[in-house]
Order: sequence, then C-alpha cells, then structure tokens
Amino acid sequence: MNLHEYQAKLRFGEFGIPVPKGKVATTPEEAFDIAREMGKPVVIKAQVLTGGRGKAGGVKVAKTPDEARDKASQILNMDIKGHIVYKVLVDPAVDIKSEIYLSITNDRAAKRPLLMASSAGGMEIEQVAHEMPEKLIREYIDPSLGLRDFQVRNVAAEIGLPRAHWKQFGEIASALYRCYIDSDATLVEINPLAIVGTGDSEQIMALDGKFSVDDNALFRHADLAEKRDLQEEPPEETRARAAGISYVKLDGNIGCMVNGAGLAMTTMDLTKYFADELGATNVGPANFLDIGGGAKADRVAAALRIILADPKVKVVLFNIFGGITRGDEVARGILQALEEVKTPIPMVIRLAGTNSEEGLKLINEAHLPNLVGASSLADAARKAVQIAQGA
Ligand code: GDP
Ligand code: MN
Repeated sequence: MNLHEYQAKLRFGEFGIPVPKGKVATTPEEAFDIAREMGKPVVIKAQVLTGGRGKAGGVKVAKTPDEARDKASQILNMDIKGHIVYKVLVDPAVDIKSEIYLSITNDRAAKRPLLMASSAGGMEIEQVAHEMPEKLIREYIDPSLGLRDFQVRNVAAEIGLPRAHWKQFGEIASALYRCYIDSDATLVEINPLAIVGTGDSEQIMALDGKFSVDDNALFRHADLAEKRDLQEEPPEETRARAAGISYVKLDGNIGCMVNGAGLAMTTMDLTKYFADELGATNVGPANFLDIGGGAKADRVAAALRIILADPKVKVVLFNIFGGITRGDEVARGILQALEEVKTPIPMVIRLAGTNSEEGLKLINEAHLPNLVGASSLADAARKAVQIAQGA
C-alpha cells in the first residue's frame, strides 16, 4: 500500500524529520483559506500516487492567497498519468539551495535494507541511475546492527554534502531508517531532501515523500491501514479485498481465475509463453487472481464478477488444482456466477485434484455453450491464448 505525500511527510515528521507544516485542500477556496492563514507564499501540490507531478504541472508556487486559489483550481481534477487529483497539499514555500535524494528500500537479492542517496536530488532516481550511475550512492544496512554512523558519514562525504549539514543529515537518515523499520515499509523515499533557508537558519528538510508499506504487515499497523485511499486504487481491487480475494489488475485480455498465488503466477507465465509461441502480440493476462484456499461457491462467483467487470477480458482461464479447495465447490461457484452474470465470453476450464470429477460433471451437465474444457494446464493456457488471439 502506498501513502500520499502528505501522509508520508506527516509520518516522517513523527519520527523527527523536518517537514513543511502544510495542510490538505479539496477545493480552491480551501487552498485560499490555508494560504491566507499561512500569510506567505505557498506551494500547491497534487496528491496522487504517482511520481513526476512537478513535470506534469502538478506542483506550483503561489505568492498570494488569490494565486493559491487559481493554482489549486488548475491542479484539482487534473489527470496525471491516469490519476485524477482530488486533493492538493498546500505547503509553505521555501527557498531551495540544493536538492538531495535519499531513500531506503528492501534489496531482496542482498536480503537487506538498502540506503540510497544522491546529490542529484529532484530528478527521478531511475534517470539518475541510468544517466549518471556514479552519482547514486548505495549503503547496505545490516538489519541486526542497524544504520551505523560511519555509513552515514560515508554517504554524506560521497554526495559532497557540506560539513555543516552532516550532523542533521545523520539525524534524518537515522530517523528515516527507524521509520522504515517501525512501519514495516518496503520503501521510504525523500526526493528532494532539500537544503533550505539562508545563513544560520540554513537547514535540511524533506519536501517530498514516497512511502510504501508491506501489505502483509498492515494488520499490525491499524494507523497506516486506515490511510488507504480507495479513490486511488482500481475499484475491482477494493471489491476483491472485501471478498477475501487477492487480485491485481493488469492490462491484458485473459482473465485468470486460479487457486494459489504460485499457481496463479505460473498460469500467467504460461499465457505469456503460448502468446509468444503463437505470435499473439496483443495477448496476455488481464489480472492476477488467487481465490485462496478452500474457496466456496460465493467467493468464486465474486471473483468471476470482478474478472468480467473488466471490459478488456476476452476469455476467462480457470485453473483450479483442488487440494483444500474442492472442484465441485468451484464448479458450483462458476455456475452460480453465470446464472447472475449472463455472458457470452468463452471460459476455458482446467479442473484437477480433489472432487474434480464431480466438478466437471456439474459443468458438463449445465450444457453452457461458452465453456471449453481442457485436459491440462498447458492445454488450457494454449486454448485461452488462441481464443484471445482470435477475438
Ligand atoms: P514530484 O515531481 O512528484 O517528485 O514532486 P516534488 O514534491 O518532488 O516537487 C517537484 C519539485 O518542485 C521539487 O523537486 C522542487 O524543486 C519543487 N518544489 C517543491 N516544493 C517546493 C518549495 O517549497 N519551494 C520551491 N521553490 N520549490 C519547491
Ligand atoms: Mn519528488
């Protein structure tokens, strides 16, 4: 789950990282009020779960409350890379002297948290990594020791940070690591971490925040879980979560209904494999879906409705390997869903394992014209690809 910038910065602030004291507005009038209350220039920032808002025109400085109202009305309802802006953050504007990049993420290959920093702040980090990899500094953190002072000093030296700021940079990096660990985050990113102000009041401040929390740890972070923005995720994903189904929307045309996450991945891979083999360039999985162990007819029906709600879906591929999940229950679920949602969309069904004979019998007896049987997973995946290709 990803947090919005304003939520990320609030959280950073709780861990002691200096952040601007901004407020969120949902209307131009609210932005006007906030700017007037602050009594100084502000930055109006689109709150959408995607990067590059600055380049897209979603970050604008306003010198007066009237300007704040204008800029907010330009940014609200904007479409940034497919994300509609419903909220803006109104932050007090600051004078930026220089911008640093700082993040901590989970490096799965190294099996440790990885701190990354760069003097090329403000730019997207992928671009830095690509165009000037020497400017991207990496420090792996031993989780049993935590972030060590010498590591922070190394980073500060390598990004060429003026000595005067080393102490505060160290405090911020340590706070960010604590925040990362305590939140079960998979990514905390500050870009830019900016040097702001002048003379003696010069200090480092987090002007942007990206924050991803491990979904599997949300059960122990009620305060973070409630920050989920339902407006920002595909409605199918919200419905799936409520029904106890793991679902991730993708952009292909083969709807996949599978029990077990690993089997679901294999199924998706196989559609890709046969699409390549058959030269079907526009064919691929429309979703990841795991109906979970022991799914009953109701859940299967809910899953099928979610898959069919996607207009791109040209064929549904069922891959059920019965263990705890029973083939006859799944068959009942399919038939129940097809009672409610009448659809001509072809469905390729591969059912194996516990009670698969009973399940196939139920399906055959229903005599539905759009059901296609399959003898094996490979057979099913190939048939689904052929149907999607011909559709
Ligand atoms: P992003 O484009 O989605 O990463 O949005 P950011 O929050 O990083 O903002 C983009 C850029 O706007 C930053 O890199 C800064 O250069 C600039 N910016 C953000 N806040 C301020 C501010 O308070 N004052 C000034 N002058 N510029 C700002
Ligand atoms: Mn940024």
